Amino acid sequence: MSGFADYAKLDATALRDAVVSKRTTAAAVVEAALARIAALDPRLCAFSSVLAESARERAKELDFALARGEPAGALCGVPFALKSNMCLEGVEAHCGSKILAGYRPPYTAPFVQRLLDEGAIVVGTTHMDEFAMGSSGENSAYAVAKNPWDPARTPGGSSSGSCAAVAARMVTFSLGSDTGGSVRQPAALCGIVGFKPTYGRVTRYGLVAFGSSLDQVSPFTRSCRDMELVMSVISGADEHDSTCLPHPPIDPDRSDSVRGLRLGVPKEYFAGGLDADVRARVEAAIQQLVALGATTVPIELPHTEYAIPTYYVVATAEASSNLARYDGIRYGVRKPGDGSLQGMIAATREAGFGPEVKRRILLGTYVLSSGYYDAWYVRALKVRRLIRNDFDAAFERVDLIVCPTSPTAAFELGEKSDDPVAMYLSDVMTVPTSLAGLPAVSVPCGKVSQGGKALPVGLQIIGPSLADARVLRAARVFETATKHQSELYALDLSALEGAAR
Ligand code: GLN
Repeated sequence: MSGFADYAKLDATALRDAVVSKRTTAAAVVEAALARIAALDPRLCAFSSVLAESARERAKELDFALARGEPAGALCGVPFALKSNMCLEGVEAHCGSKILAGYRPPYTAPFVQRLLDEGAIVVGTTHMDEFAMGSSGENSAYAVAKNPWDPARTPGGSSSGSCAAVAARMVTFSLGSDTGGSVRQPAALCGIVGFKPTYGRVTRYGLVAFGSSLDQVSPFTRSCRDMELVMSVISGADEHDSTCLPHPPIDPDRSDSVRGLRLGVPKEYFAGGLDADVRARVEAAIQQLVALGATTVPIELPHTEYAIPTYYVVATAEASSNLARYDGIRYGVRKPGDGSLQGMIAATREAGFGPEVKRRILLGTYVLSSGYYDAWYVRALKVRRLIRNDFDAAFERVDLIVCPTSPTAAFELGEKSDDPVAMYLSDVMTVPTSLAGLPAVSVPCGKVSQGGKALPVGLQIIGPSLADARVLRAARVFETATKHQSELYALDLSALEGAAR
C-alpha cells in the first residue's frame, strides 16, 4: 500500500503529531487512507462515497500552510468519514434511503465545519441503516457494511459504515449519530470507542433528523484521548439549533485517575438476555476499575424494562413528524404516480421508503393520532421521565454507572433481519441513557470467542448530565491500564484485501 507507512498504526493524536513535526505529510497520509479504502472496502462496504480529489487537494493546502509555518489545527492532516445523514456542501447525503438519492446539501453542518477548520480531512461518507433506523446496517437501501472482525457479522448499526471504517483503520476517526445506541452499540461490536454526549452538547444543525429529542452527533475513535480531542472540537453552543446547550465545548478532564470514584452497577443490566461470556468480560472490567481505586455500589434502575417500548413510541412519533417533509417536492426523488398531487406524494413515498421506515411512520402516526395520543404518546413521555428519575436518584449515590453496552457480541448478518423485535432488543442497554439524555461511552474491554471468531466486547460508562468529561476520563484511565485498544491494531485484515463484495 502507498502513502505514509505507519498510517494504520496511529491514533489521531499521534498522526497529527507526525504531520505537524513533518515526519510525514498530509498528502502521504491521505494516500495511505485512500489505498487502505481501495484495498479493504470492496469487502467491508463501509463507504458510500470516497472523496479522493477533494481530500488530496485539502492535504496539499495543509502541507503548504505547514511549510509556510502557519499554526496547525488540532486535527491537522487526520482523515475522517461522515455518516451519510450529515451535511457536507455538495456531497450526496442519502441517509441510506432511496428517497434522498441524489440529495446534495447546500451547506456544511457546523460540527463538520469545526473539524475541517482544525485541519481534519474528510475522505468519504458511509453506509447506514435507512434514516438511522436499525441496529445492524441491514436496513440500508444501498449496501450493508461488514464487521472487520468477521465479515459474516454485522458491525452493529445504524452507524455501521462509520464504525467499520474506523475499526478497519481506513480512517482515523469518524462521525456517527446515536439516537438509541447507534454509535455505542457498533463501537462495542467492533472494538473501538464510541461516545454519545449529553443531549444538546453538539449541535444537530446539519444532521438529518430522526428523533429530534434523542439524536446526537457522536464520534467513533480508536482511543479515548482521541475522543476527548474530537469532542472538544465539535461540542459547544450553536445558534442554528435551539436545543444546543449554551455551554462551552467539552474540556478534557486533566486527571488520570479513577481513585475514589463510586461506580454504580445496575442489577437490571446483568439480568436475563445478557450473553454469559459478555457478562464475564464486563464484570472483569469492573474489577479492573476497582483495582485502579474505584469502588462499586449496587444500584437499581427499576424502570429499565420499560425503556424499549417507551423508546419505540417516542422515537417513532418524532420520526413520523420529521419524515413528513419527504413528499417529492422539497428533497430527493419524485415519482409522478397518477399525476395528482396526492398521487405523486403517495407514489414517491411508496417507492422511496423501505419497509422499516414505513413501519415506523405508521407506528408513530398511530401513537400521535387523536384517541390514542394520551394512551400511548403522553404515557410514554411520563415513563421517559420515570426512567430519567431512576438515573437522577442513582447519581445521588454514585459518580458513574458501569454496565455492558450490548447484550451480545456481533451477531451474524441475516440473524435478526426478519424479526424487528429481536433487532430492537439489541439496544436494550443503550436506549435508557438516550431517553434520559445522559452522556455514555463504550470502550473496548476484551474479546469473546464465538463461532471460532474472536469478537470484541464493550464496557459502557454512563455519567450524569453534563459530566461528559468525567465519563471520558474514566474510559481513558481504563483503556490506559488495560490496553484493550491494542487488540485492534493486532487484527489482521490481509484476508479481506482486494476481495470482491
Ligand atoms: N437501533 C435503534 C433504532 O433502530 C437506535 C438507532 C439509532 O440510534 N439511530 O431506532
